[in-house]
Amino acid sequence: MPVYMTADIEVTDYDGSAVSAVNRDRAGQRVDTDYLIVGAGALGMTFADQLLTDTDASIVIVDRHHMPGGHWNDAYPFVRLHQPSAFYGAGSRQLGSNRIEAVGFNRGYFELASAAEVLSYFDALMRERFLPSGRVRYFPMSEYDNAGQMRSLLSGETRDVAVGKKIVDASYCQTSVPATHTRGYQVADNVRVVAPNALPTIAPAHRRFTIVGAGKTAMDVGVWLLQSGAQPQAIRWIVPRDSWLINRETTQPGDEFYHRFMAARAAQMEAAAEASAVEDLFLRLERCGQMLRIDPSVMPTMYRSATISAGEVEALRCIKNVVRLGRVRRIERGAVILEGGEVETTAEELYVDCTASALGRRPTRPVFEDGRITIQTVRAALFCLSAASIAHVEARFDDDALKNRLCPPLALPNSCEDWLPMTLGELRVQKQWAEDPALRQWVSEHRLTGSNLRSKRTDGPLDPESKAIRERLSLAIPRAIANLERLMAL
Ligand SMILES: Cc1cc2nc3c(=O)[nH]c(=O)nc-3n(C[C@H](O)[C@H](O)[C@H](O)COP(=O)(O)OP(=O)(O)OC[C@H]3O[C@@H](n4cnc5c(N)ncnc54)[C@H](O)[C@@H]3O)c2cc1C
Repeated sequence: MPVYMTADIEVTDYDGSAVSAVNRDRAGQRVDTDYLIVGAGALGMTFADQLLTDTDASIVIVDRHHMPGGHWNDAYPFVRLHQPSAFYGAGSRQLGSNRIEAVGFNRGYFELASAAEVLSYFDALMRERFLPSGRVRYFPMSEYDNAGQMRSLLSGETRDVAVGKKIVDASYCQTSVPATHTRGYQVADNVRVVAPNALPTIAPAHRRFTIVGAGKTAMDVGVWLLQSGAQPQAIRWIVPRDSWLINRETTQPGDEFYHRFMAARAAQMEAAAEASAVEDLFLRLERCGQMLRIDPSVMPTMYRSATISAGEVEALRCIKNVVRLGRVRRIERGAVILEGGEVETTAEELYVDCTASALGRRPTRPVFEDGRITIQTVRAALFCLSAASIAHVEARFDDDALKNRLCPPLALPNSCEDWLPMTLGELRVQKQWAEDPALRQWVSEHRLTGSNLRSKRTDGPLDPESKAIRERLSLAIPRAIANLERLMAL
């Protein structure tokens, strides 16, 4: 595995001479930079990439992990992106090859990168673009103390950082993954609870499995167990809340999906325009194929923008032993104690903890403040495009008030009600950006909107189907805005 040398040295592989050069160079020195980016996850990396494109600024990136990619360093081995790779990563470089999958539950759709692919992508971006630019210095295995100092996690040495322009907080989302989070329930001795990371090695020693949690990780684990040969009746699933899920079919980029994508968007806006209440809205979204739920007899209360294929939903429906008694409080050798009751269990059971929240729910704050940028989502469910947009606005404008108008943060959703402000916010941002011709062009040509998979439809006359869909959309959007405002006021 390659290693990045910290400090003002060069990128190198394991090499004794380079190590001594680093040690000689770094002790106690002050680091000067225009931008200090705290966090080398997807958001920090994408922000830096856009800043490199749009400015000649110098950048320091600091991160506790040993490689760029943030939470992907701690990911379980069978995790993949929820959304096509086309929408993920940095603007300057494609992730994957825009392949249409030929097998599996994602068959017929654009590829979803694995954790290993995401890590290798960000590693290459750092080594092949950032560091050779001479404008980026990267400090892995180091921590920023939010008071002007970086500290090496290995030596404990600290270095002052003098920031000329902005400190960029690229850790505000507080991503929480199973391997590193703290469980919110107690576990008796001799009860085996593992993170999904351990499954490929530990599962063969077990015949019975309990999945704890009902988010996307739990769904990944359910699908993985079934695909790996576990019998559906050997799986028990503890579901504190059911979730509405975005149907992956409706999120595909590219020409071959254009009509389906646009028609789904029109249907979504029509549902938003006509819904009488939140529950009615989601039922309409389900009827038009936008939303899926695993058990059609249960009305979900959770919505976290998780995306799934109809095939995965079908597979998960094979798991019939579903426990809906709230959250787990304690697991004992003979019983699982939940908020709403308890269920018997056996000593042989393997519990798979899927209760990490993935994305935190910190309150939104202005993206642009004096001397500080806090990266948040400013494009609904498009994390990387959000980070690139913030960097582009930072590079192009001076006035923080204007920049904040162009990049209002959208709170990450947790419940069905949260769909309303998120969608309304997204519609308002789109309108704002469309009014500035340069911004409109920038976003429509950006890789992270799937632009390299689209032919230039807007240049020529529209085919009749596209024209009809566009007309539906332009009629529905103002009505959707008005109705969402009304529903939020109820
Ligand atoms: C399983 C999963 C699948 C996902 N799939 C998609 C998808 O398909 N499409 C999509 O758009 N998004 C997806 N996401 C969301 C996306 O990957 C990121 O989670 C989100 O963009 C937040 O990224 P981040 O860079 O803020 O967080 P992180 O990846 O957590 O990175 C933050 C980094 O900051 C570092 N850090 C924090 N504080 C400090 C400090 N004081 N000093 C030094 N370093 C510090 C941490 O070490 C960490 O490496 C997915 C998330 C998960 C969990």
